[in-house]
Amino acid sequence: MHVLITGGSRGIGAATARLAGARGWSVSVNYVSNAAAADEVVAQVRAAGGKAVAIQGDAAVEADITAMWDAAEAAFGPVTGFVNNAGIVAPGSPVAEMPTDRIEGIFRLNVLGAFLGLREAARRMSKSRGGTGGSIVNLSSMAATLGAPNEYVDYAASKGAVDTMTIGLSKELGPEGVRVNGVRPGLIETDIHASGGEPDRAWRMGVTSPMGRPGTAEEVGEAIVWLLSDAASYATGTTIAVSGGR
Ligand code: NAP
Repeated sequence: MHVLITGGSRGIGAATARLAGARGWSVSVNYVSNAAAADEVVAQVRAAGGKAVAIQGDAAVEADITAMWDAAEAAFGPVTGFVNNAGIVAPGSPVAEMPTDRIEGIFRLNVLGAFLGLREAARRMSKSRGGTGGSIVNLSSMAATLGAPNEYVDYAASKGAVDTMTIGLSKELGPEGVRVNGVRPGLIETDIHASGGEPDRAWRMGVTSPMGRPGTAEEVGEAIVWLLSDAASYATGTTIAVSGGR
């Protein structure tokens, strides 16, 4: 198995890379700016028993996406698993106060970037186009169903779009030997909350969830790796919540 993970240098993507490494898989670890973090993940994947390479590229930029897939294929051959993971939030704000450039930034990566990543996957993995088939996992969010009022409705809406991509592409690519699923994390302890201006957000809100705590990146990664694997051979078009019941 050769897995390409966008945003594999930190958080959920990094945990997924490590779990894939433990299965002996080859992992192409994409990052945008934190080369040191990506190098550390590469070392961890190798230590776990897999192969890995770090690939710089902005998952919101078409040319970078193409180059990223080229670099991955050059390293380990055809990509058989694609984790469409790179995503951002912005500081909490009511919709009425949101500047346009903030909304554009979120939609550029979380919607346009995610969609272009899926287009590249469809072009390269589809059997009728010479691909080998495989499995795609899109990172959604519980925000897509909860709406994230007064925090980031823009982010929530971007993940709603991701959910629709999962449904549509699973129907297109089923006959192509490609399964397409999603994972919908709840409050997970990663750097994303600090990037939204509130490092403690996962704990502040996680204690109010039915399980009384936030989740770990590894707990989400386990679901992603399962969906990638042959153990999920009849699962397509679904999005699994890993949210502690939230
Ligand atoms: P994170 O800890 O903030 O890590 C973000 C990762 O994405 C980093 O590896 C970062 O690379 C990369 N990245 C950011 N912008 C990028 C770009 N333009 N191109 C390529 N890579 C880029 O995030 P996370 O919490 O693991 O989130 C991963 C996914 O899960 C996201 O789609 C997020 O929306 C979703 N999610 C997270 C939570 C949560 O509570 N954590 C909940 C629901 C959904 P660098 O290291 O180079 O900066």
